[in-house]
Amino acid sequence: MIDTHIDIPWEEKTADGLPDWRKRDQADIAMREAERRFTIPKAEAGGLGAACLAAYTPQASLDNAGHDAAWRRARAMLEAMQEMVPLHVPGRAVLCRTAQEVRQTAEAGKVALVPVMENGYPLADDPSRIGHLARRYGVRYMTLTHNGHNLLADSAVVRQGREEAHGGLSALGREVIGEMNRHGVLVDVSHASRRTMMQAVEVSTVPVFASHSCVRALCDHPRNLDDGQLDALKASGGLIQITAMAPFLRRGGGGTLADFVEHVLYVTRRIGVEHVGISSDFDGGGGIEGWQDASETHHLPVALERAGLDGAEIRAICGGNMLRLMESAEKEIFESQT
Ligand SMILES: [Zn+2]
Repeated sequence: MIDTHIDIPWEEKTADGLPDWRKRDQADIAMREAERRFTIPKAEAGGLGAACLAAYTPQASLDNAGHDAAWRRARAMLEAMQEMVPLHVPGRAVLCRTAQEVRQTAEAGKVALVPVMENGYPLADDPSRIGHLARRYGVRYMTLTHNGHNLLADSAVVRQGREEAHGGLSALGREVIGEMNRHGVLVDVSHASRRTMMQAVEVSTVPVFASHSCVRALCDHPRNLDDGQLDALKASGGLIQITAMAPFLRRGGGGTLADFVEHVLYVTRRIGVEHVGISSDFDGGGGIEGWQDASETHHLPVALERAGLDGAEIRAICGGNMLRLMESAEKEIFESQT
């Protein structure tokens, strides 16, 4: 089983109110009784084989100071991920760069950790940073935005100012997607505006995906994908990873695992079982009744089976689809180098 979106704990601000780019100790990743919802013992208890860990940067000002702080913070977070395995969970987890490594790690009974980025803000106006993130840290996906527009694209959630800053992707955003395709970094449209998402589907040569989003027809939230977006995902070969965020599952909040399964089934019926997967958004606000932390991940296949899905469908939803998508991105790197 692969959970495609988990945050690592990090302070956003120092005591002085400045953006916090200092490294944070990740020792609690090794604890069963930790406050964080994802730890290695919890993943082991829940039968979770792999997790995408996000280096998340909150959207702040679009000036040099803001961009520099975000770039420092994103790298500090990725470095903390690299350190956490040998320091705290040696022999139990492995930082993985490819679908093949994820498979081998899970088959060996260890937890595969895949570094990813949430928000393209730290790139500032420099698309070459994608290559650095991919080579140095093995980053495998990046959301184009978080809440609030950045230099790359418009966000689904406007924090201040205009409804749209670019009308979807900026010219820079299009260039960045090209770099992402070249370096095997998947284009993640979670948090992006509808127009950004639909343009990204057109621009990207690798199928795009939404690492943590739900279905708008079932819960009208700007972070969710509507039927037109789901159809565009299907046409491009992409993937939506339904997420355990209560306000995205049920209007007014209070979404449970039963609602989660309804969202999965809706996508399955509309665009096919090969275009849907699972994500928790643990330690970033996620966690619902029935799937409160990684130790309860084994509830998911049980719930999907009760809903009438067969073993092959459940394997596709719980990880097979994501591995296939990672492989399609890897194939693109190979092709661009030959
Ligand atoms: Zn998010």
